[in-house]
Amino acid sequence: MTLFDSPAFEGHEGVHAFFDEKSGLKCIIAVHSTARGPAAGGCRMWPFASADAALEDALRLSRAMSYKNAMADLELGGGKAVIIGDSRTQKTPALFEAFGRAVEDVGGKYWTAEDVGVSPADLMHARKTTRFVAGLTGHAAASGDPSPVTAEGIFRGVTLGVRRALNRDLDGVTVAVQGVGHVGGYLADKLHAAGAKLIITDVNADALREVAERTGAKVVAPNQIFDAAADVFAPCALGGAVNADTLPRLKCKVIAGGANNQLADAETGRAVYERGMLYLPDYVINGGGIINVAGEIRALDRQEAFDPAWVEMKLARLMETLDEVLDRSKTERRPSDQVANEMAKARISLAAEQKAAA
Ligand code: NAD
Repeated sequence: MTLFDSPAFEGHEGVHAFFDEKSGLKCIIAVHSTARGPAAGGCRMWPFASADAALEDALRLSRAMSYKNAMADLELGGGKAVIIGDSRTQKTPALFEAFGRAVEDVGGKYWTAEDVGVSPADLMHARKTTRFVAGLTGHAAASGDPSPVTAEGIFRGVTLGVRRALNRDLDGVTVAVQGVGHVGGYLADKLHAAGAKLIITDVNADALREVAERTGAKVVAPNQIFDAAADVFAPCALGGAVNADTLPRLKCKVIAGGANNQLADAETGRAVYERGMLYLPDYVINGGGIINVAGEIRALDRQEAFDPAWVEMKLARLMETLDEVLDRSKTERRPSDQVANEMAKARISLAAEQKAAA
């Protein structure tokens, strides 16, 4: 299949491939949309089996960033970078300096940040060769680790979902959290403080023990989390947690977590809806992290210090948007993921029309 025929290509403004012989950098930067502003999205380093697989991932992820940024009402479009390589063995300062040059070559149409396999320390090397990097520490505009803000948004989303589906607050509600890493760990703390009972799992025994000690959570094996007697399922590990195999096992009324791409596909979204479960669309509920990164881009552009009050204002608005998605899903009798996709596309189209008319 050629690039333009790929279903994931849909509407992309630009796809850039870079190779740097000296450092070994092979990277793809996909810019889905700049209708709302410069494209923003993290950089992922992964040992993709082929260049085609890397391209497919970049396209899929960059379009998802357009939707996420639009629903968070940010003046940002969507883009994503992927570096082909093993982050455990192939990272060098020269590689990230070369990556910075690649970002610079895109001419400000794309801002990068961290994602799987890429840390703030790596991006400090990229910053030597481009200014279009966010999600850093150590300067006045820096936003630091986005995970606590992501978790705060998810916590508020879980609270909203429980109120809507069960007509109660979190005290005494049981939440099953899959993955207690950065986001899941902070989320577990917040849920525990609000009086929720926790059932947790992780493939990382250390993370699991630490969170269980802090919160008194019940620990289950990774595959048992889908059978947990819980009111809420919060996927906070990898994508595809809700699929044709796991959905029939879930006993919860609410699905609300931090992971990207929680639903295996659109059919799963419909099946969740038909089972009467309330699904809080992943890229809406987990938008807190990109809001935090956007706060850094805004501060850098204005040459100001990072402003947490602006982040809080955007996070509060995100929760109103989430409520609107759930309202429309209820009144229009359609799956919430379908409603969210349509709202995101409409926001992007409107911005494109306004840009064309200006
Ligand atoms: P992380 O790597 O810190 O945590 C993920 C955790 O999931 C790890 O502890 C890992 O051991 C565990 N895990 C992996 N496979 C598992 C399995 N099969 N069963 C149980 N546990 C498993 O990552 P994170 O930053 O906390 O992100 C979690 C998810 O949220 C990811 O999907 C990420 O894309 C998404 N997300 C994160 C942010 C953010 O601000 N960090 C923002 C938006 C979305």
